[in-house]
Amino acid sequence: MQSTILEIKNLSKSYGEIMALANFSLTLRKGEVLGLLGPNGAGKTPLISILSGTLLGFTGTVVFKGQDLFSDRRLKNLIGIVPQEMAFYEDLNAMENLMFWGGLYDIPEKELKKRALELLAVVELGGRSKEPIRKFSGGMKRRLNIAIGLIHQPELLLLDEPTVGIDVQAKVNILDIIRNVGQQGTAVIFTTHQLSEVEQTCSRIAIMDKGVILAQGTLD
Ligand code: ATP
Repeated sequence: MQSTILEIKNLSKSYGEIMALANFSLTLRKGEVLGLLGPNGAGKTPLISILSGTLLGFTGTVVFKGQDLFSDRRLKNLIGIVPQEMAFYEDLNAMENLMFWGGLYDIPEKELKKRALELLAVVELGGRSKEPIRKFSGGMKRRLNIAIGLIHQPELLLLDEPTVGIDVQAKVNILDIIRNVGQQGTAVIFTTHQLSEVEQTCSRIAIMDKGVILAQGTLD
């Protein structure tokens, strides 16, 4: 069995009276694709935001690769984030965006270019890499958002509702990409409202509501 990469223990985050996360605990192994299923307001985005380092003021612990995630900034470089809101420059093309975002990490330029080209092929944007993003469809933008999250070859990929607002075919493409990322050894957490999406994609499913996990396990 693969080793544990992420261990979340008793994570709590409140907004006044509302407990967005209430002693939330979860363990993830290398290469595992976890589908986090829950209705609006379940606490999925606060969880992803805490793991991404963009939401503070919580209690509990997050151990990543055996270390406190928040103790060493370098650990964050091993996490890829695909936020719900698109995170790229619309006036740049796909290749320029990948080079820009990848340039924030310590990756030699030649290697970065190679990875960008490979990722564009993976997300099926190879033929459109020189067009400004503002001309892209919603599905193409979502695929680029994922490629940007993968440019630094993270060991853990977090995706917050990566299939929102796109058509069925575009969803299938994105779910295929997520499944393949897991097969290559990257641990994945992706959030969604749709049971069918996690059924098709995930090695494990967790159902959450009101800041806690109600049930989890394999699809069976
Ligand atoms: P969605 O599927 O709609 O993205 P979610 O599972 O990601 O939902 P959130 O709605 O983001 O969960 O957050 C969970 C709870 O925390 C909700 O009750 C929400 O109202 C509350 N919450 C989230 N962010 C804030 C905020 N900035 N201020 C006050 N309350 C907040």
